[in-house]
Amino acid sequence: TKWVYSFGDGTADGTADMRNLLGGKGANLAEMSNLGLPVPSGFTISTEVCTAYYENDRAYPADLAEQVDAAIEKIENSVGGKFGQKENPLLVSVRSGARASMPGMMDTVLNLGLNDETVEGLAEKSGDRRFAFDSYRRFIQMYSDVVLEVGHHHFEELLEILKEEKGYFLDTDLEAADWEALVAQYKAKVEEELGRPFPQDVRDQLWGAISAVFGSWMNQRAITYRRLHDIPAEWGTAVNVQAMVFGNMGDDSATGVAFTRDPSTGDKRFYGEFLVNAQGEDVVAGIRTPQNLTKQARLDAGSEDLSMEEVFPEVYAQLVEVYKRLEAHYRDMQDIEFTVQQGKLWMLQTRSGKRTAKAALQIAVDMVEEDLISKEEAILRIEPSSLDQLLHPTLDPKAEKNVIARGLPASPGAASGEIVFNSDEAEKLANEGKSVILVRVETSPEDIHGMHAAKGILTSRGGMTSHAAVVARGMGRACVSGAGSLNIDYKDETLTVLGDTFKKGDIITIDGGTGEVMVGSVDMILPELSGTFGTLMAWADDIRRMKVRTNAETPLDAETARKFGAEGVGLCRTEHMFFDAERIVAVRQMILAETLEEREAALAKLLPVQRADFVDLFRIMSGLPVTVRLLDPPLHEFLPKTDEEIDELAAALGADAKKLRHRAMQLHEFNPMLGHRGCRLGISYPEIYEMQARAILEAAALVSKELGETVIPEIMVPLVATKRELEILKGKISAVGEAIEKETGVAVEYLIGTMIELPRAALQAGQIAEEAEFFSFGTNDLTQTTFGISRDDSGSFLDDYVNQGIYETDPFVSLDKEGVGELVKLAAERGRATRPDIKLGICGEHGGDPASIDFCETVGLDYVSCSPYRVPIARLAAAQAAL
Ligand code: PEP
Ligand code: MG
Repeated sequence: TKWVYSFGDGTADGTADMRNLLGGKGANLAEMSNLGLPVPSGFTISTEVCTAYYENDRAYPADLAEQVDAAIEKIENSVGGKFGQKENPLLVSVRSGARASMPGMMDTVLNLGLNDETVEGLAEKSGDRRFAFDSYRRFIQMYSDVVLEVGHHHFEELLEILKEEKGYFLDTDLEAADWEALVAQYKAKVEEELGRPFPQDVRDQLWGAISAVFGSWMNQRAITYRRLHDIPAEWGTAVNVQAMVFGNMGDDSATGVAFTRDPSTGDKRFYGEFLVNAQGEDVVAGIRTPQNLTKQARLDAGSEDLSMEEVFPEVYAQLVEVYKRLEAHYRDMQDIEFTVQQGKLWMLQTRSGKRTAKAALQIAVDMVEEDLISKEEAILRIEPSSLDQLLHPTLDPKAEKNVIARGLPASPGAASGEIVFNSDEAEKLANEGKSVILVRVETSPEDIHGMHAAKGILTSRGGMTSHAAVVARGMGRACVSGAGSLNIDYKDETLTVLGDTFKKGDIITIDGGTGEVMVGSVDMILPELSGTFGTLMAWADDIRRMKVRTNAETPLDAETARKFGAEGVGLCRTEHMFFDAERIVAVRQMILAETLEEREAALAKLLPVQRADFVDLFRIMSGLPVTVRLLDPPLHEFLPKTDEEIDELAAALGADAKKLRHRAMQLHEFNPMLGHRGCRLGISYPEIYEMQARAILEAAALVSKELGETVIPEIMVPLVATKRELEILKGKISAVGEAIEKETGVAVEYLIGTMIELPRAALQAGQIAEEAEFFSFGTNDLTQTTFGISRDDSGSFLDDYVNQGIYETDPFVSLDKEGVGELVKLAAERGRATRPDIKLGICGEHGGDPASIDFCETVGLDYVSCSPYRVPIARLAAAQAAL
């Protein structure tokens, strides 16, 4: 088997298409090499080795070593050095590279191949002893940290002590002899910590690094990251070994990262940062503040530090050519890493750049206009759930705000929340439903879970390409990075700025679009939905087949949903209209009534308010379809709970408190989700449904007159399990319709349908369709009853099930295609067999989940219905599903 794929010198064994085998980084290095771009020679050990390694108890395939040796020799021939040889030694970098970029894993070891002998060779070859020993100490530190697990701080301490002794301020003050002395101390430290010396054999070094990469695939951070991003463990990672080039070989050397377009806004401008005389990790780690690439960016930032365009005009021009070529070749915005070694440009990486949702839209729409991609491609490139970022509030420009600090606008959106200083606590508080802002000096891959849990991230150090900035943009969290005036004290859990001290739990607001940090919470407003958002959504609307409706009952929700493009209401949960403080008395009276007269008295109070509700809703939807579901309350939700509430209710109704308490006790259910709810209530107390039907139909008649077109409400009966239930209730509703016609002399039009939310209903769909004019899949209850797990109580164990891979994802979030989906499919088929034009929709939470929407397309549903804020997500997901 071929395990090792070489690249460099204008050729490569691999291509960009071989991402699964070579990982993202390896495939793109091969591709750049094929394109003839300046890529340092190297090789990729394939992801199949990772898989084999774990299948064979962490042992490598027998012929791997041989292939690695051959590939090393190829590098040696290409660059004219020798691995482990004193004279002209070859040094390499070792990097991980999975199919999807994974910040949870071991990242990089640089300068591998240095030992006590080769360091002398490097000094000779470069003519720079200081550089050679600086490289060696970097290597010892990095290798020890990621391979030998001897932490950074040991080495940083030694460096600090030396600087203090010598009276140095900056690392650049150290001279060759200082680094040399430090190297000796570093090696002694490693030996002290490990009981064995730092490896001098370069092959041992190489295999140590390779094993560390493969080992990191299964470290806790990587596992967490994979879980958060749905990356299967089987994918494995590749390892990239590549000849070193040095950005720290003096003032004609540099290293940098760049985006071919602005990753925050999507603006078409080259964008990035670089550091003179530095190695790659210096930029990302945010230790030194990098300089701008372009002169314009420097001027915009009001910075005196010259840009790359000004410092290295020739290399810069070459870099511009390369980036343009890469963008045209990949037809996407690229995130590139480069190094300049003594005036020569080297490309170290290219990949599709992470971007905010706003930038993603801008870039996709621009690229269609530039004829680089098609509209369909543009639609497929936007992650539907990322639109969420655009739909959420930004700061109200009119709001008063007290700005205490300013950092970089690293990831847009505004967020308010309690200050927390560590990620575990952020996660804990978020789970308790609190909004938190994670405040860190800088973040690292260990903070992923805290960043995910937080509403926003604030750091005091690091640039636009720092870990915090990149990860926050990817996750869609607001982020302000590098707010240098903040003084963060982890021990005391305080944040001090301009003499003010803020404690853990204090509320702050950050604006990731401007970089501002403010005291307290600041008013926010809804975003504008025009521009590129409007353009892309219009394309999506042209392409999708399924309609998108909303689950809404309040005028505010209905209006919001229409603004977001809802094409009707798929579920109006009437019980939600009953929670109102003023109505609840009548509702409780209705529920607690012991006689028909009592109940009718309560219903008479509710009829006009219900009618007014529906008038509002029909008006807002002005002619679009509206599905109103008849009452489906878990009864206990409405019952008075405390003695106080019972006394109050008794007083309001002029009833006896003792009798009321008794009745409330009678109605107590052990399992209300499977109790007297849904149509069972209508069967026992038909007058409730009759009142609702009347309210709906009278409201429809009223609004029809107003609009001059017929509003055709869809009356939906919940929790049906048998055809007979629907038959009985349909009879009652029709009778109400006939009565209204008689009273008004005007014909009323409406549809009667049912929810399919019980397995028996799905199985009996053929029979039920004889009565039902439409089905709406209530996949919340259908999931609950198919799995036999409670919607309300499964939170305590669902995590265990997802973590152990028993459920791929939370089945209440993403539809379980194999089980619940099978029932949906079967019910759709059986329903259509009976009634070919039956209208089919979904109104469970899954109606707003892109993966579930994709499934709905395959079943051929007519529409999906979801909460207002998910409507744009559903529109886009429905378009993607249709492609
Ligand atoms: C459902 O069960 O999927 C549904 C939409 O109804 P509810 O969530 O109100 O039970
Ligand atoms: Mg339900």
